[in-house]
Amino acid sequence: MTKPQFYRDTWVEVQLQDIYENVQSMRQYLDPSVKIIGVVKANAYGHGDVQVAKTALKAGASILAVAFLDEAISLRKSGIEAPILVLGATHSEDANIAIKYNISVTVYEKKWLEEVVGNITDPLSVHIKYDTGMNRLGLKTIDELRTVLDFVKEVSSIKVEGLYTHFSSADEIDTTYTEFQYENFIEAVEYCRNSTNIPIVHCGNSATGLRFPTRLFNAVRLGIAMYGLSPSEEMKEILPFPLKGAFSLHSRLSHVKKIHAGEKVSYGATYTATEDEWIGTVPIGYADGWSRSLSMREVLVDGRRTPIIGRICMDQLMIRLPQKFEVGTKVTLIGKQDDEYISVDEVASALGTINYEITCMISYRVPRVFMDGENMIEVMNPLLHHFD
Ligand SMILES: *Cc1c(COP(=O)(O)O)cnc(C)c1O
Repeated sequence: MTKPQFYRDTWVEVQLQDIYENVQSMRQYLDPSVKIIGVVKANAYGHGDVQVAKTALKAGASILAVAFLDEAISLRKSGIEAPILVLGATHSEDANIAIKYNISVTVYEKKWLEEVVGNITDPLSVHIKYDTGMNRLGLKTIDELRTVLDFVKEVSSIKVEGLYTHFSSADEIDTTYTEFQYENFIEAVEYCRNSTNIPIVHCGNSATGLRFPTRLFNAVRLGIAMYGLSPSEEMKEILPFPLKGAFSLHSRLSHVKKIHAGEKVSYGATYTATEDEWIGTVPIGYADGWSRSLSMREVLVDGRRTPIIGRICMDQLMIRLPQKFEVGTKVTLIGKQDDEYISVDEVASALGTINYEITCMISYRVPRVFMDGENMIEVMNPLLHHFD
């Protein structure tokens, strides 16, 4: 690295080796006939989509999935050549863009297909989404599936590459609803089998892949487990192999001062010192995704838990230090320092949400630093990216 790629003292570290090992563990756990679709939507759950995509492909994934077309185009423009599937809705007017970038899109309405066929000249690859009980996106009945398949047979410009569904509750110990959805999907798969040949059939997210490795048809959509996080708290007890969390969040003290009993800290003056106290200022705030609701929670300094005091500001927060520390001392908000550890799950639980939301919410203002152990491999900093 010849020039610094970020100047602020707050950054995310992503251990690409952990992501590699999580994908490899899944690769070894599953039958070789099951393809791994690496789900890298939302900037790879906040981890950095291009680097994660490359790592996943090296480790045994062969397809990528994102939520919408812009995410797919962004990967293409970064030189990713693997097949990409858009899981969400795509406007029928944008089918030509998907074709131009060789991106597969999801079909869930016949009307959409009719519009697309009117718009395109070159073939478009699609995966048909069948809704087995999530009620988000998908054809809902075998009748609807029949009309779509019949329509597709009559036109040469639509290539049906896949058929899939999504389970709503695969991460819960109780499998009743998943069984119900699975049975519905079997019906759709059987119907298609008698009608046409669809190469890729998939029903599983991470939870399904981990728990029902023999019920995946021939592909699995691997998201959260690739990042080393458990799909749910309940599932932590039954993981078939250890997952390695790849994400950590750090900053450095930018100002350290002593205040006296009675002095107040931050907006609203909600915190009052009860004695002489060492206060550290940390340059991370809610605009970085460190929610105001985390005021009163802890961070790590010098391997110790240290409380956040007063309100979290847009760009900064204050902590009460057990003693004086030098400006520049490392502060860890997610991750390990010596024997102390703040996990993504701990932050999720503090905010009453799931681990998925935590890594996604750390904003574009925080550069992603890709690591191989202690070595920095690459930096992604969208703020400076466009001016290089
Ligand atoms: C996000 C998403 C996934 C990935 O789910 P994980 O629980 O993160 O593995 C799979 N399928 C669809 C349709 C999704 O939207």
